[in-house]
Order: sequence, then structure tokens, then C-alpha cells
Amino acid sequence: MAEAQRSNASSDGRQARPRGRRQAQPPPLEGSPKTLMAIMAHPDDIDFTSAGTIAKFCAEGWTVYYVLVTSGDKGTHEDLTRQELAAMREQEQREAAAVLGVKEVIFLGYPDGWVQATPELRGQIVRLLRKYKVDVVLTWDGFRPGFNHVDHRNVGIAARDAVYPAVRDHLYYEELMAEGLEAHRVNDMLLAGSDSPDYFVDITRFIEKKVDAILCHRSQVATRDREEMLKRQKRQGKRPGRRGNFEAFKRVHIARPPRQEQRTEAPAAVHEEPAPVGGR
Ligand SMILES: [Zn+2]
Repeated sequence: MAEAQRSNASSDGRQARPRGRRQAQPPPLEGSPKTLMAIMAHPDDIDFTSAGTIAKFCAEGWTVYYVLVTSGDKGTHEDLTRQELAAMREQEQREAAAVLGVKEVIFLGYPDGWVQATPELRGQIVRLLRKYKVDVVLTWDGFRPGFNHVDHRNVGIAARDAVYPAVRDHLYYEELMAEGLEAHRVNDMLLAGSDSPDYFVDITRFIEKKVDAILCHRSQVATRDREEMLKRQKRQGKRPGRRGNFEAFKRVHIARPPRQEQRTEAPAAVHEEPAPVGGR
């Protein structure tokens, strides 16, 4: 326990410890490669918020998948059809993902601006989490109280509802069993765009990769000036009293009860409450 807390305090991924909460903090994600799926609404969402973290994890040996719920087919003032814009933005997203070392980019094809947190979308996410045996989900904070894009909000909510409890209880989307996709646990989420972030990833060594990924989104970025973008990203990634550059998330960790750690058979559909780190 003391060891975990000590390593937590000295890691890159720093977490503010909320006052009055006695729960032990989980160890930082950095340094122990797993499988991460970033699920967001539009091509460029992941790269603007999280490309430094993705680059860092890929460099550490993580397996990273991108899931884009829409292909961003409304994001232009140019004279383009929705189909032309979607094709362009999918290509830009694939190029950015390749810069970072992402294994695969998946587009779900929903229309831009019309995303709802439906059982169908939740089921598509459950299917992907079970198929790729994902350990960590990175998505939008769907519950942020201030101004938020409808697609960001609904993708965040659908992804969170997929992680708990649908992906872990086999009777949710039981038709997936016929494909051999069994219940699976995702115990960590990183939420981008939160107004109360508590997990900060040091991306100082990966800021140039982040800039290169962002500049792949040519239809969305006005500047072609790499130095200007680098300056802007360094400025945005500052934290008070800290050197270097950071990306900020809210971490949600679902604690597994001790009795389940020792189980060897398939876990039952236990509805223990998720324990959000840093709390809301
Ligand atoms: Zn977006």
C-alpha cells in the first residue's frame, strides 16, 4: 500500500488525492504496457486532447486502437460534400495514428452531430472492448457540466455505460457469445475534456509527435507552421509549478473486490459500485 502510494506520487501520471477519501490510489498507468482503446466522436478529437499520451504509451509497448464514432462529415466551411469530407478526414486520421504508432483505426460511421447514447452504440462499443480485450478506455468526459459538443457528450456517456456494467456482464449483448466474445473487464478509464482533471501525463518527450499528429488533420488546422503549432502546444501543456508539458484527464478506476482477485472461474455478474478516482 505504502509502496503503491509512493510510486504513485513519483510517477509522471500524477493524481490529486481528494481530501477525506481513504481509498488507496491505484498505481499509475505509465510503465506497465496494456491495451488501450481511445473512443471519441470525430477524427482529430483524440489527437488534440491525447496524442502525447498515445505516443508515450505506444513507445512503452502498449497496443492502442482508435475508434471514431463519426467521420466528422460536417466539420468544414469549404465547398465539399459530406462524403468527400468524411473520406478526407478518415485519411487524415489514419495518417495521424500512424505517426503515433497506433495499431488500428476503426470508424463506426455515425453522422456528425447526430450521435446519441443509444443501446446500439453502447453494444458496438461492448463488442470492440470484448474483441480486443481492452484494459484502458480513453474517451470524452460525457458528464462535464459546461458547454459541450453533443457528440462528445454522448460518446463519453455511451463508452462509460459500455465499460460499466455492460462489457463485464455476459447477459448484456448475449448475442456476442455466439461470436466467441465473452464478458470482459475494463478497470480503468481516462476522460479527456474534464473540468476537474486529476491525472496528468507528462508528455514532454512526445510533444513533437503530438504536433506532427495534429498537423495531419489538414482540413481542420489553419496553420501549416510546425514551429507555431509547437509553441501553441507547449503553452497549452503547461502546469503551474511544474516543468514540461502535460495532458490532463480524469481517471476512473473500477476497483475489483479482493475476493474476486482470487477467483479462477469466470466472474459472476456482480454489480459492485465503480470507485471513481478523484471523485465526483
Ligand atoms: Zn470533436
